[in-house]
Amino acid sequence: MKIMVPIKRVVDYNVKVRVKSDNSGVELANVKMSMNPFDEIAIEEAIRMKEAGKAEEVIVVSVGPKGATETLRTGLAMGADRGILVNYEGETEPLAVAKVLKGIIAIENPDVVLLGKQAIDDDCNQTGQMLAQIMGWAQGTFASKVDLGDGSVDVTREVDGGLETVKLTLPAIITTDLRLNEPRYATLPNIMKAKRKPIDEKTPADYGVDMAPRLTTIKVEEPATREAGIIVENVEELVAKLKDKGAI
Ligand code: AMP
Repeated sequence: MKIMVPIKRVVDYNVKVRVKSDNSGVELANVKMSMNPFDEIAIEEAIRMKEAGKAEEVIVVSVGPKGATETLRTGLAMGADRGILVNYEGETEPLAVAKVLKGIIAIENPDVVLLGKQAIDDDCNQTGQMLAQIMGWAQGTFASKVDLGDGSVDVTREVDGGLETVKLTLPAIITTDLRLNEPRYATLPNIMKAKRKPIDEKTPADYGVDMAPRLTTIKVEEPATREAGIIVENVEELVAKLKDKGAI
């Protein structure tokens, strides 16, 4: 059983993003970049499958700039076996990424592709679903539990107000939700070991994919700043103020 985990290099979740002065996007110069948090969860789940003897190989894949090699190394240090960097310096859109992943699947033949439910930079929540569509594979999105069997996988999904468990016939696409697991930190010996693990370098053209964007960003704006609050002495004053504002 082979597991493929697509991972995206995004602005670190601790960074307070700033909008560029011309409102064309967010500032990426000198900003700390890291692995998309949902993708760390996907790698963790794949490694647990390997540790449980249910999978033999975990491959991490990233479509992105040269810097994404560092993100792939993080995945290798967590325990993935090898990496593939599909080098593209521009912004990646879900459909183009899904097409590249289709090209890699044709060569690697994974049984499961485990993606994050969304990338925290564009919040698209589309790549896994698009990949399932273009492959014609079953999909289990927003997974909070994954139970890999022989020829099928049970995925418990976080849906509005509850949980839904679906059985998918392999090969299948799974996207991870926050509560699936708690990703491990890479240990120093594993970081050293990861330096020797192979990372193949490819380009979108190797898979015949045109990465030209299909979307144009018209404008990016900061959220409206909140007005300062006021402190009231007691409930009577609060009620009077609310009445004053027509709130009650
Ligand atoms: P999105 O549809 O952009 O919200 O991304 C959902 C998931 O698709 C991410 O959590 C990744 O697992 C995968 N993904 C998106 N973009 C890329 C990329 N450029 N390279 C590798 N994986 C990606």
